[in-house]
Amino acid sequence: MYDLIIIGSGPAGLTAGIYAERAGLKALVLERNFMSGGQIIDTYEIDNYPGLMGINGFDLAQKMREHADQLGVAFKMAEVQQVEDLGDTKKVHTSEETLLTKTVLFATGAHHSSLNIPGEAEYAGKGVSYCATCDGAFYKNKDVAVIGGGNVAIEDAIFLARTCRKVYVVHRRDQLRAQKALQDKLFEFDNVEMVWHHTPVKIVGEDGKTSGLLVHDKSIGTDKCLEVSGVFVAVGIVPNSKGYEHICACDQKGYIVAGEDCRTSAPGFFAAGDVRTKEVRQVATAVGDGANAIASVERYLNTRKW
Ligand code: NAP
Repeated sequence: MYDLIIIGSGPAGLTAGIYAERAGLKALVLERNFMSGGQIIDTYEIDNYPGLMGINGFDLAQKMREHADQLGVAFKMAEVQQVEDLGDTKKVHTSEETLLTKTVLFATGAHHSSLNIPGEAEYAGKGVSYCATCDGAFYKNKDVAVIGGGNVAIEDAIFLARTCRKVYVVHRRDQLRAQKALQDKLFEFDNVEMVWHHTPVKIVGEDGKTSGLLVHDKSIGTDKCLEVSGVFVAVGIVPNSKGYEHICACDQKGYIVAGEDCRTSAPGFFAAGDVRTKEVRQVATAVGDGANAIASVERYLNTRKW
């Protein structure tokens, strides 16, 4: 019987593992990928994590994992299939086995949203991408479009502007949601063109690959085609909470409802990082959640007789 099973090994899960180990809990981190780090693995540069300015996301993930390994945190690679709440005992079913635990921390993060427009599925991997740092190198000296106005879209546009000939940033409003520092960096590039007030309509293809992006001008009601060979979709994230809705309350977008103490509506279940309801989703806040969650787990364990 574990004291705690942590599902997910992004910044929230890794921090929780470190804090749990230091608190002397019998804890296990379950990760479904062969690499820890979650979404930051695909982030080219992180400029706002204190003390490590400009660090590559992959490197930061490695550092966090090394820290956990040095302390002796237990990891297992497994896909969680089901979680059962039997009161004081919880069951975590993976593809390999069933694990028993007193508490569970959901640190499952989030994944990218899709546009759901014609051509998106057809040209996914053939010009349509959800990860600029993974696929950007294929578009050296080519024209590309980035869709979205959040931190991810603007980080992607900056990354692509360094090597692509032209980068269109297609945004449905005339104001970006991204942090001011990122906006300032983006506007330094003269090969970036902002396409304000436009929504994506269709991915256009030729010979089995992307050749353009049809966009709709919301202010004058006309459509135009941007001739690009790559379209990078960065229109937000979806929480990885599927299958856990029967355990604890989720909001209408699927985020697990939990405050700063990471306690969910179900006793013994906690949620940390991007999967929980919160205002700011960043590495720093995920790490903060990981620490807070363990304080709550310890409090929960101490108030019960086992
Ligand atoms: P986000 O902040 O939710 O931004 C999504 C963007 O896509 C918004 O600009 C939104 O437009 C636009 N959008 C949504 N649906 C659309 C649609 N159907 N068609 C066209 N545009 C659409 O998401 P994100 O950039 O993926 O970031 C996810 C979370 O991670 C955020 O909380 C973010 O702050 C965090 N993050 C932080 C950092 C950092 O701190 N450096 C880096 C990466 C991510 P509107 O603006 O009009 O809503």
